[in-house]
Amino acid sequence: TKADNPYTGAKVYVNPEWSAKAAAEPGGTKVSNQPTGVWLDRIAAINGANGSMGLRAHLDEALRQKGGGELVVQLVIYNLPGRDCAALASNGELGPTEIGRYKTEYIDPIAAILADPKYAGLRIVTTVEIDSLPNLVTNVAGRPTETANCNVMKENGNYIKGVGYALAKLGAIPNVYNYVDAGHHGWLGWDSNFGPSAELFKQAATAEGSTVANVHGFIVNTANYSALKEENFKITDSVNGTSVRTSKWIDWNQYADELSYAQAMRAKLVSLGFDSNLGMLIDTSRNGWGGAQRPTGPGATTSVDTYVNGGRYDRRINPGNWCNQAGAGLGERPQAAPAAGIDAYVWMKPPGESDGASKEIPNNEGKGFDRMCDPTYTGNPRNGNSMSGALPDAPISGQWFSAQFQELLKNAHPAL
Ligand code: BGC
Repeated sequence: TKADNPYTGAKVYVNPEWSAKAAAEPGGTKVSNQPTGVWLDRIAAINGANGSMGLRAHLDEALRQKGGGELVVQLVIYNLPGRDCAALASNGELGPTEIGRYKTEYIDPIAAILADPKYAGLRIVTTVEIDSLPNLVTNVAGRPTETANCNVMKENGNYIKGVGYALAKLGAIPNVYNYVDAGHHGWLGWDSNFGPSAELFKQAATAEGSTVANVHGFIVNTANYSALKEENFKITDSVNGTSVRTSKWIDWNQYADELSYAQAMRAKLVSLGFDSNLGMLIDTSRNGWGGAQRPTGPGATTSVDTYVNGGRYDRRINPGNWCNQAGAGLGERPQAAPAAGIDAYVWMKPPGESDGASKEIPNNEGKGFDRMCDPTYTGNPRNGNSMSGALPDAPISGQWFSAQFQELLKNAHPAL
């Protein structure tokens, strides 16, 4: 039988490959024993791409780390057809129509390995398809933020089918806990996005023979930078009679941080028929926003903008910025059951791994050059036409980015 919260009473798998990279950095041993996600970001990752550990190697090592207790292994299922339709930095190997290959060459082999009785004693957490479904709500025809590729993925239904298939196949394995990606507050926190996204998650969870019973929970803020808790102001605050929701930073959003968003999204999903014990995960790998620049109290009450901008921890130029953000720090260390409705704070994005290259770098993974990773880029409608806020000289997504890791250590909050 499944644990209500798989993280309770369990250790979490430390990926030896990430751990070694972190430990090789000056100061890195302060965090190199932390658990991070194992990203199955292409078919070859199942058997081990370019000499790295494959899925069985990770699970065998997980059994070793487990010893006599309980252990959670965190996998990221990330290889949809037409992946990353609103951006280029994490485009993948499968074209928009390759749903057949997604099923037979990606999900089926993963499911076959996870179902091996040898691994039945592990608690296997799968986070399913980061940054995919929300794009079908926010970046499609009728929105100023539409992209041609997201229109294609909405029309052909292959994100929905892929997620439904993955949930059905993986959810059939008794020790697998599926968590579906639910974006973050700075993406889906507006009324126009929030309800429609929750409904779309339900549609995907019930596609391809899946049912809501295959969904153990949802994960928010994966690989993003949205602050966990903004403590210097509340969304209900007003300044001189004007709501902070009218400030430039909040821009009518209903949420100012991830904890409030995750709890509200959970309630919404339960109201739509998901399990009332649904648990949320929050990726706190890079949302610490500590260091010398962190505000120590509320901003001046001159206007809603001085109040919000002076007090907010999240120091991005715009909450739509997502690539290698300058000034970011490690967030809360991974921990079980930190708040109501939250199964765990996790480091699903391995700190130090790039979000995308700052300039065009040829590669054989399908990854493109997205100018949101270029520090000189002046933006597009998806980030309010703002500067990208990205660090310079980044390698392609997934590769080690030492300068970013150093900054994450320096700006960690809680401090290391
Ligand atoms: C990349 C993946 C990588 C993951 C974790 C994503 O942005 O596209 O290839 O495994 O980040 O670093």
